[in-house]
Amino acid sequence: MNLIFLGAPGSGKGTQASSLVTQFGLAHVSTGDILRAAVANKTPLGLEAYGFMSAGKLVPDSVVIGIIRERLLMPDCDSGFLLDGFPRTVPQAEALAQILETLGKNLSRVIYLEVGEEELFKRLLARGRSDDTAETVRERLKVYQTQTSPLIEHYTALGLLARIEGVGSVDEITARIRASLPA
Ligand code: AMP
Repeated sequence: MNLIFLGAPGSGKGTQASSLVTQFGLAHVSTGDILRAAVANKTPLGLEAYGFMSAGKLVPDSVVIGIIRERLLMPDCDSGFLLDGFPRTVPQAEALAQILETLGKNLSRVIYLEVGEEELFKRLLARGRSDDTAETVRERLKVYQTQTSPLIEHYTALGLLARIEGVGSVDEITARIRASLPA
């Protein structure tokens, strides 16, 4: 099973992803985690990404596409993967489709976690991560609206989207997601 988790920052993607990868033995591929590790280790990638991340902007497509291209080649992805935070733009989605075609793999489902804007803002400020100040939170939500939300249409048109109500207890939301997965 190869899944994408789609949703605004604060929609609960990370939390739900962690529980699903354990249940299904999937590789958890989070571009945010990979980028944060690169920043912490001050690698060339980290130095390039840091300015974008701390401003709440997207790291350039070419950079994250390169990360994903390498990551999906790793053997743990052979038994299925869950993409958490990628793709975030239509060009990223198109590049992913090409990469998967080369690898002879398909997407099983795109899980869209739907949460209202006010609730997102509240959750993000409560989280207190270093890139979660009021100003960057506003910027990240704006970036999500303009650059990422078109993916909802994109994957609906491909017949892959499962729309999941993202408000409720963690277990309730996990159950909704499980019910939406292919048998
Ligand atoms: P996340 O943990 O997924 O919210 O990602 C944290 C930050 O990493 C984002 O605000 C972006 O700056 C950057 N980032 C993560 N994934 C991507 C992506 N697919 N495309 C561009 N930037 C990304």
